Amino acid sequence: MAYFKVHFLGCGSACPTLFHQPSCQVVEYRDRLYMVDCGEGAQTQMRRMRLKFSRLGHIFISHLHGDHFLGLPGLLSTLSLLQVSGSVTIHIFKEGAELIKTIMSAVCRDTSFEIKYDIISPEGGETVYEDNNLIITTFPLYHRVPCVGYLFREKPKSRHLNSQMLDFYKVPVKDRPLIREGADFITEDGLTVANERLTRPADPALSYAYCSDTAYNPRVAVSVKGVDTLYHEATYLAEYETKASARGHSTARQAAMTAAAAGARRLVMGHYSKRYEDTGAFEAEASEIFPNSIAATEGMTIEMI
Ligand SMILES: [Zn+2]
Repeated sequence: MAYFKVHFLGCGSACPTLFHQPSCQVVEYRDRLYMVDCGEGAQTQMRRMRLKFSRLGHIFISHLHGDHFLGLPGLLSTLSLLQVSGSVTIHIFKEGAELIKTIMSAVCRDTSFEIKYDIISPEGGETVYEDNNLIITTFPLYHRVPCVGYLFREKPKSRHLNSQMLDFYKVPVKDRPLIREGADFITEDGLTVANERLTRPADPALSYAYCSDTAYNPRVAVSVKGVDTLYHEATYLAEYETKASARGHSTARQAAMTAAAAGARRLVMGHYSKRYEDTGAFEAEASEIFPNSIAATEGMTIEMI
């Protein structure tokens, strides 16, 4: 079963439609949930997708346009109504933290859990979360207001032990953690056994980049170079390229150009303008440049590969 997935809760842009919800995703990594942007209705979308509220510990906000963070007061109030315990950390710009604090003090003063605020920089380049397996960093985007993307990267993994070979060379249990990390083994007779004889290669460390609202800019590809799965906004099709850049947005074609330049393995698009009811044209346009392109829709889950 996959341990690293992304759930798409909202794939529309600023103006709500009957087809799309505002921006919201949940990255699932092992037993934890990490929300990225929090458009209105995030909590009902979590319910629809059977994502457990108690597993949500961090929320990352890309910028302070309403369709990316106005879901916070409702979501936080719902978590409190449900008596969720522990803490939720909101990674957000300073002005956003002040705004949410003010709203919460008016609508839900005593939450059942602690709300922590991590003030992030609009410049990007920060590590905003790190544990033994996962690291999350920010990078700059190019929108009408300060905006950052989030890069989720697994840390390099240990090699797999080959138990038959370990038994053959009588490797003591106490030496095995070091061998998982790549050490050779020296037998009692002084013979060096190369690590490659005792282990199999580690699984690849996977990565996911979230490119929220941004005009096309070649620097984005540099920031996410080598990412496995790239989410990139595609508010418009190429027919509206001039309008897209004027509004700090991208087209499907430009999202594909970034995916290709970054050497990504897969592109996922979202943040569609209200003028589009069908997402098929986004896949068709992007695929001409970057074949492995998917248009996300609400309710979709993808496993990291
Ligand atoms: Zn925006």
